Amino acid sequence: MNLKKFREEAAKKKRPLKAFLTKLDEIVPHDMPKVVAEVDATVWRDIDCMKCANCCKTMTPTFTPKDITRISAHLGMTKQAFKDKWLLKEEDTGDWVNKKQPCQFLKNNMCSIYEVRPADCAEFPHHNKKPFDLYNDTFINNLVHCPATLTLVDRLKKRVEEEYEW
Ligand code: SF4
Ligand code: SF4
Repeated sequence: MNLKKFREEAAKKKRPLKAFLTKLDEIVPHDMPKVVAEVDATVWRDIDCMKCANCCKTMTPTFTPKDITRISAHLGMTKQAFKDKWLLKEEDTGDWVNKKQPCQFLKNNMCSIYEVRPADCAEFPHHNKKPFDLYNDTFINNLVHCPATLTLVDRLKKRVEEEYEW
């Protein structure tokens, strides 16, 4: 995965893809879940997360109370010690997030706590959330972080513009 090339492509395509997702909020094809699933399957033939890890390098997951309990136990730490060492509480949302990026658990481009990783990480990049268009703001934000999301939205745009009255 060439992340420099990804960043250049994301910078170039962000505006038109954001405009597409915004319009998708208003005009949702009736068979959207099926179309998204089909296009998403093509994305994962070309994208290998093991060669990327850009989400872990540039973003933070939200740690739920259950995540904190599970991960701190896995590491043999108290919840308080775990939070003190690595997390901070966001003022506006009250969410627990990483103090720094890249994530402290990223080792050799892999998650060192994979079995107990935060639910947010396990669900990322959220392509299978339904209905897809309700997550437009998330996808707009992730266009510049996640090559899979950039590819999905790019291919989705082409397909929707070709096949639907748009
Ligand atoms: S916990 Fe693991 S999957 Fe989640 S951001 Fe950190 S390294 Fe990545
Ligand atoms: S989810 Fe996206 S950003 Fe994270 S490793 Fe996979 S392709 Fe890269």
